[in-house]
Amino acid sequence: MMISLGIDFGTSGARAVAIDATGETLAEAKHIFTGAELATAPAQWQTGLFCLLEQLPLELRQKIEAIAIDGTSSTVLLCDATGNPIVAPLLYNDDRGIAVMEELRAIAPPHHVAIGATSSLAKLLWWQKKAEGAEEAEEEKPRATNHQPLATSHSPDSRLPTPSQEEIYFLHQADWLSFLLHGQLGVSDYHNALKLGYDVEQLCYPDWLLKLLLKLPALPNLPQILAPGTPVGEVTAEVRSRFGLPQGCVVRAGTTDSIAAFLASGANSPGEAVTSLGSTLVLKLLSQTRVEDAQSGIYSHRLGDLWLTGGASNTGGAVLRHFFTDAELETLSGQIDPDRESLLDYYPLLKAGDRFPINDPHLPPRLEPRPENPVEFLHGLLESMARIEARGYQLLQQLGATPLRCVYTAGGGAKNAVWSQIRARHLGVPVAQSAHAEAAYGTALLAQISC
Ligand code: ADP
Repeated sequence: MMISLGIDFGTSGARAVAIDATGETLAEAKHIFTGAELATAPAQWQTGLFCLLEQLPLELRQKIEAIAIDGTSSTVLLCDATGNPIVAPLLYNDDRGIAVMEELRAIAPPHHVAIGATSSLAKLLWWQKKAEGAEEAEEEKPRATNHQPLATSHSPDSRLPTPSQEEIYFLHQADWLSFLLHGQLGVSDYHNALKLGYDVEQLCYPDWLLKLLLKLPALPNLPQILAPGTPVGEVTAEVRSRFGLPQGCVVRAGTTDSIAAFLASGANSPGEAVTSLGSTLVLKLLSQTRVEDAQSGIYSHRLGDLWLTGGASNTGGAVLRHFFTDAELETLSGQIDPDRESLLDYYPLLKAGDRFPINDPHLPPRLEPRPENPVEFLHGLLESMARIEARGYQLLQQLGATPLRCVYTAGGGAKNAVWSQIRARHLGVPVAQSAHAEAAYGTALLAQISC
């Protein structure tokens, strides 16, 4: 039977899930990064990837027909023509792109999703600006003698690339990891490329970005963009023999970790949504229409012929964790009557400011009055977060998204059955746990399509 492998590179570690044609999980593997590993990245990502493959039983590996990889959104790197990283990667949450916000606003249309300090495009421009700055410094100091050594894959650093720019490739984490398997440099997917400025509706780089490339011919090569799940190429002969993969095992274009988590939920038709109750509250609603409101942090990923529209609030589990341990959350929740509405009306935040569903950078946390009874306080927090979630879905629908039909739940809060009942009361639709908790499962489904 045909086996597909999904590999997920999330914020804290990497996971692999192998499934059969019916979607049954056959094997799983895990590789957790330490903090230092995340910072120095590519060599460790490579170790993680190979370690995941080695953990799978050989008999299973010999039957894998398709592989796809997801990575954290906007984690990017530059590499030379042989795929060797030549600078340290910029991770998903690296906001040094704040230094190029003016340039970004000057080139991209107003409120474009790529205008953000952590976007892939901001990171590309930041590298470009750094390279220009270094060139100018070189010109100003003609007698400088200390040439930079050529960085290798084992010692990427944050200095500037030394190969000529035509040989430099700009890639996302998932693109580079996939390259390690199929050996084709310069290929990405339109989920990873959304925040690079790629036009996911017209399926091309937009004119404003092409103009930038003409103006700055020294920019690194941007990847060719494919639909997620498109076959890119077979695994290289070296990878095939090292891991015992079969002839014809194909690597498909990947996706981002959060979209992989959505795919894993089982949601697949318009009106189905996934709420992630992790440290923050993240909403994703599958819609027939595209919804964009950059100021509120609302944007849409393309998912085949549909749109995955969503937004993220700063409320969520981090606030719960501030007041309660996970064990307390469990026992105290058990004492809440989910059918009785708490009249406590909070806006639970750890510090001022939210973008969605209320776009106000100064929005103050509202956590008063605080009852002495911790069960009542927790009830008020869960009820208030449920109100914010419902308001978020209402906003997406007001902006034109397909009406909500049901909500799957992922993340640490998904196991709280009492909270699910409170949320169902506010949402007015059924609330269920995601079918699969692992993003890697969603990526395995992506690898499976049209196999
Ligand atoms: P992230 O990946 O965003 O860090 P997780 O998905 O691991 O978050 O979820 C962790 C969060 O889940 C914590 O902030 C914690 O407060 C919350 N959490 C844990 N157990 C429960 C529970 N029983 N009810 C509600 N929230 C919970």
